[in-house]
Amino acid sequence: MRARGRVGAAFVVLALALAAPCAWGATPADSAEVRAAIDEGNAGFVRAWQTGDADLFASLFATDGALLRPGGGLTVGRDRIRSRMRDVFASVRMTEGTITTADVFLIGDTAYETGFWNFTIGPIGSTTSEPDSGHYVEIWKRDRTGEWKMWRDIGVPRMPSSELPEPDLGPGPPPAPSSPPAGAPSHGAVRGPRRAEASHGARLKAIRFGRLIDGKGHTIQDALVLVDGERIRSVAAYSKAAVPAGAEQFDFTRLTGIPGLIDVHTHMTYWWDRAPGSRPWQQLEARPAMQTLYMAEENARRTLETGVTTVRDLGSFQYMDISMRDLINRGAMVGPRMFVAGYGLYPTMSPFQDAPQAAAGGNADGVEGVLKAARQQIAAGADEIKVYGSSGSADDVTGYQTYTYEEMKAAVDVAHERGKTVAIHSYGPDGARDAVRAGANSVEHAIDIDDGTLREMARRGVTYVPTVDHNRYYAEHAAEFGYGDSAVAHLDAYRARNLETVRRAIRAHVPIAMGSDAVFTMFGENTRELGWFVKAGMTPAQALATATGNAAALLGMGRDLGAVAPGYYADLVAVEGNPLTDITAVIGGVRWVMKAGEVVVDRGVSATLR
Ligand SMILES: [Zn+2]
Repeated sequence: MRARGRVGAAFVVLALALAAPCAWGATPADSAEVRAAIDEGNAGFVRAWQTGDADLFASLFATDGALLRPGGGLTVGRDRIRSRMRDVFASVRMTEGTITTADVFLIGDTAYETGFWNFTIGPIGSTTSEPDSGHYVEIWKRDRTGEWKMWRDIGVPRMPSSELPEPDLGPGPPPAPSSPPAGAPSHGAVRGPRRAEASHGARLKAIRFGRLIDGKGHTIQDALVLVDGERIRSVAAYSKAAVPAGAEQFDFTRLTGIPGLIDVHTHMTYWWDRAPGSRPWQQLEARPAMQTLYMAEENARRTLETGVTTVRDLGSFQYMDISMRDLINRGAMVGPRMFVAGYGLYPTMSPFQDAPQAAAGGNADGVEGVLKAARQQIAAGADEIKVYGSSGSADDVTGYQTYTYEEMKAAVDVAHERGKTVAIHSYGPDGARDAVRAGANSVEHAIDIDDGTLREMARRGVTYVPTVDHNRYYAEHAAEFGYGDSAVAHLDAYRARNLETVRRAIRAHVPIAMGSDAVFTMFGENTRELGWFVKAGMTPAQALATATGNAAALLGMGRDLGAVAPGYYADLVAVEGNPLTDITAVIGGVRWVMKAGEVVVDRGVSATLR
């Protein structure tokens, strides 16, 4: 997960000041020519980083002009360059993919036969001698005599340490020169970095939808989405778009396209085999975790079938969630992209002991204990921290606060310091109030949240994840779980108050995200929550936003997920019907799903509609 928004306006000014010509500036005589090259290079670079188009990157190094000086510093791969460029462009103020403060990039002149793109990155204010601390990008230009001179020295913000490019372990680039070589490879000769990196999934896919809801407030009738590898290259009206030769084509003119959905509250590793006479919780506790992890792929697959291509998983044990995330990312397991919490933190004497605990389990008391447990989850590889701040789970709908404000604050401090988010579970209003005060990023479940806390959530942008539907699930499946009539009555009563709290949260303009709290056989019903949101007063479009833009923002992935737009992951869902007039088109109408450019669900539509 990426920390965002760290670049203040003051830094923009500083960066632009530093971006003034350092050692050498364009002379008036060539300024028009240079300017044209700058504009062309800028536009191309924006397209290249938005789409990750390796061929376009290569072409940017083929015309005369300045050089992004290779060697001498860190060598980083295409994906890292793309994320780095994203930071760079963020510091020069972008509006809708166009650089408004332009004169910082000139692209051209040469390509290097390395298989990697190279920048010289170093501390602000230095030139070439201290290349490793990530504070500038140098651009060099060949002057009229053929000599290389530094043309721009661009200040860029320091990356969070977790994102610093790792030393290149791949086939090495040419030895790093201490100054640009006079006889640098000439332009046009080399198209080096192209195929080696772009081999997986680089094929173009052209997908036509009868209607496209882009997740950014636009609806396009008869739209064409062009996918290049795992990202979206372009989105346009079909009549104005060209289908590139060789692109794989999908014709969904009878369906509606929406962004891949995000479920921000799952427990993917809670799996049950439905064996007669067995109970889900007891079976989960008795079964070795490694077996559960293997079988839980079923939950992941059912989730994809609902159009959910990303989940925030809020609690597992034995770090099964971390393994599952990594297995999915390496393609060894089928499932949605996962952001995971490791163990949820819970105090002694609470009901959240799902299974025998490993040494670094989530049991933690007191500020010191919470600090340590939160750090352990992050060290184990968690993307976010989950805190059980009240009682309540399964057939227990009590909402007694279990962690103090200070303990919650300790978890938040550790998480935020490491660029992670915090989700605090509270069934009742007290835990919710302290969660918001403590700085949680989201509050899970809570009912009867007081008006002051709702106002504060709206003001601070704390997301409410109501999980209304999971109590419907427990009540409907009471027999399987062994819950009696009085438990069902409690679940139903809780759900009614939950729904009422959603109504109040909508009126208070609290950001709301779709979380199913799916466990066991609830996978496949992940999006039923949207029906409750409409019932509580949202328009279908607002409900859809809880599973797209709102959810992506909560994950800190607002520029990668939750929309169908250039540069975003190619997560696309084709549904029957119009979700803007009837949310059940999303809940029951999913026909085809693409995740990161790969088709993961196809209910026969590509065959019949082609
Ligand atoms: Zn949960």
